[in-house]
Amino acid sequence: MAVPKRKVSPSRRGMRRSHEALTASAHIECSNCGEAKRPHHICSHCGHYNGREVMAADKAKGVVRV
Ligand SMILES: [Zn+2]
Repeated sequence: MAVPKRKVSPSRRGMRRSHEALTASAHIECSNCGEAKRPHHICSHCGHYNGREVMAADKAKGVVRV
């Protein structure tokens, strides 16, 4: 089995982890009900998109997860 020759230094470890930051998921307020929703997605609360109801509110819940 291949084994690392040296302990990874704090500096190297930090360089590796410099790409591991989490980003907050994008969200906007629904123009119909004001609930937080993902941009370009049906509102999971009221089923509206682009100013009209495209899916029944209770049905949309299972489709779009925020
Ligand atoms: Zn809504």
